[in-house]
Amino acid sequence: MANRYEPSKPLDLIVRNGTLVIPGVGLVKADVGIAEGKIAVLGSNLAQRTAEVYDATGRTVLPGIFDPHIHLGNEQSYESEAETETRAAILGGVTTVGIFLRSLEDSYFQHLPAFCKAMNERSYVDSVFHPQIFSEQQIEEIPGYAEQYGNRSFKFYMSGIPGIVKSVTDDVLLHGFRTVASLGSDAVACVHCETGALIDKARSELKMRKPEGTLADWEDAHPAVAEALAIQTALYLAKIAGAHLYVVHLSSRQGLDIVRAARRAGMRFTVETTTPYLGINSSDPNGFLAKMVPPVRTPEHQTALWEGLREGTINTVGTDNTSRALATKKPEAGLHGSRPGLPALGTHLPALLHYGRIRGVPLELLVERATRSPALVYGIYPQKGTIAVGSDADLVIVDLEQERTVCAEDLQGMSDFSPFEGKRLRGWPVATIKGGEIVARDGKIVAKANGRYLPRKSGPAPQLEWFASAQT
Ligand SMILES: [Zn+2]
Repeated sequence: MANRYEPSKPLDLIVRNGTLVIPGVGLVKADVGIAEGKIAVLGSNLAQRTAEVYDATGRTVLPGIFDPHIHLGNEQSYESEAETETRAAILGGVTTVGIFLRSLEDSYFQHLPAFCKAMNERSYVDSVFHPQIFSEQQIEEIPGYAEQYGNRSFKFYMSGIPGIVKSVTDDVLLHGFRTVASLGSDAVACVHCETGALIDKARSELKMRKPEGTLADWEDAHPAVAEALAIQTALYLAKIAGAHLYVVHLSSRQGLDIVRAARRAGMRFTVETTTPYLGINSSDPNGFLAKMVPPVRTPEHQTALWEGLREGTINTVGTDNTSRALATKKPEAGLHGSRPGLPALGTHLPALLHYGRIRGVPLELLVERATRSPALVYGIYPQKGTIAVGSDADLVIVDLEQERTVCAEDLQGMSDFSPFEGKRLRGWPVATIKGGEIVARDGKIVAKANGRYLPRKSGPAPQLEWFASAQT
């Protein structure tokens, strides 16, 4: 990115005396000077009479978190959640989101103008879109979505979620991958990897075997073998099509084993997991509040995911945020009656910091997976995902020692529960700067929403470390 800044430019805001975590560089003690929404200078003892100063002494300054995996509009209207859920995001240190758009039947041309408008007028965070593709017509229109709306990532479900989305068959998947690949090597095919037939069978068997049960039983409705097999299939089809496969929300050790083997075989693809999987296991006392698809699993799977994240087999971390109200989540309706989907934007960064510390994962690595890696994959680096001169001034200032008990009300999304409810987490944001403005401070929103939808232009293939390390 070109550096548009004159050194003499007046600064609007100085973040002073913090310890910066810069992905790929490390921990750096420096001030950040901000002008016109961009980072203008990094240095020591920055001073300017007219600039506002945020004293970050004793604090850690991270690039704004990029959660590449959220859903909006499952509970309330898209427009309403574009405001409420991004409010929870910015309070939690998330400054950019990747939104999986949903239109089961219609062309996205009918909906994209409204989706863009909502993000430009109501959102606290910046956003990129990943339209979810269900029909041949939508596949045919992918080049149009790219051209007119700057969409360069698309999602396919190998297994549907009853009442929410339907699955696509392998022929549709292959056609979709080929179409995504035709956009260029920067385009991404995101896939929910679970083999539909295995899930359908497992679900109906579970209903017979266990009309009632606990969260731990929910794992049986989504066996790990279905995830592992689907990853294998998706990898093969993506290879044939020449598409960059992005495995969303990896949840199991068996899935991770397939990923490791494929990497050793030289496959180039990207893998994501989520903070609910990293922080919550299937014996959690919050029970069905943590019901999601794929499910949170046993501690053994969780440990495997942490190993994968640490070693770089898993490249990015998101939330799969699908906000609901308790009244529709219905945890009291039990194993088969309670609904999947949970809010996780407000707890994303605290959960990553808290459980990452317990697992002994270095802070720089946690931050890398939540900022630079997804920004590279989705073509918005270095505008996002780092702290560098010329980058957007999106920063989260963290008190690594602050301990708070999670309470849905404090998170300020639309949900009246959190799957992390009652857990004491260590490491919370104390301020979030978005586009050069302090928008959240000490748990309160202190400025107007200034989020923007980010259309993406076609670009070169991203330089991904995990591509370079794969043998060719
Ligand atoms: Zn999702």
